[in-house]
Amino acid sequence: MTKQLIAGNWKMNGSLAANQALLQAMLAGLGSPACAVAVCVPAPYLAQAKTLLASGAISLGAQDVSQHEAGAYTGEVSAAMLKEFGVRYAIVGHSERRQYHGETDAVVAAKAQRALEAGITPIVCVGETLAERDAGQTEATVTRQLAAVIAATGPRIGDIVLAYEPVWAIGTGKTATPQQAQQVHAVLRAQLAGACEQAAGIAILYGGSMNAANAAELLAQPDIDGGLIGGASLSAPDFLKIIAAAR
Ligand code: 13P
Repeated sequence: MTKQLIAGNWKMNGSLAANQALLQAMLAGLGSPACAVAVCVPAPYLAQAKTLLASGAISLGAQDVSQHEAGAYTGEVSAAMLKEFGVRYAIVGHSERRQYHGETDAVVAAKAQRALEAGITPIVCVGETLAERDAGQTEATVTRQLAAVIAATGPRIGDIVLAYEPVWAIGTGKTATPQQAQQVHAVLRAQLAGACEQAAGIAILYGGSMNAANAAELLAQPDIDGGLIGGASLSAPDFLKIIAAAR
């Protein structure tokens, strides 16, 4: 197994002053982590973060990317633009994008494909709502979401990072148990194995109220290869503790 990946998703939080303090504190406390580390910052702060992260110890990520290459798409940010700012990862299909911005499986798949074409690793998010879990639809939901991305990317599916983020666990303080998460990760791993040869090497991150207290147990599961961290990534001490729990 390659290194685990701990990626922070700042969502719509930050300011020039707060970002500088956070990133400097993270860099100061990072040492030589066993895992890979990334932060996915709001688009206006990419230039600032690129400068602050020039040492390369923490990779830069975006929170979204346009499915379009260029042109009359007001408000959109293209993969080529992200690439110019040293962006290595782009989250696609976060449940907040699916929920509040109407992103369908097909749109998410097109975004993943666009990122790959630009040399950016998409962090593709899948996950079920509480209603879907209660209805026994967890596997059907996540495999449907992943199938759309496999269909769009073909063999390049081996180059993505996948993130399982149960919607009911995001920002709620309700974490999936390590067993619940592992079960879904194993299903996703098997689906990837049916689509490409490198399934064992594809990082499948868990996201949803991961924090300094529960990270070690989640990250110890055989098919959990890292974390996508929301709230806890806004605190340098908390984020550093999660990084220390990874391998
Ligand atoms: P929280 O860690 O705040 O629950 O957010 C998870 C998430 O959505 C990361 O993308």
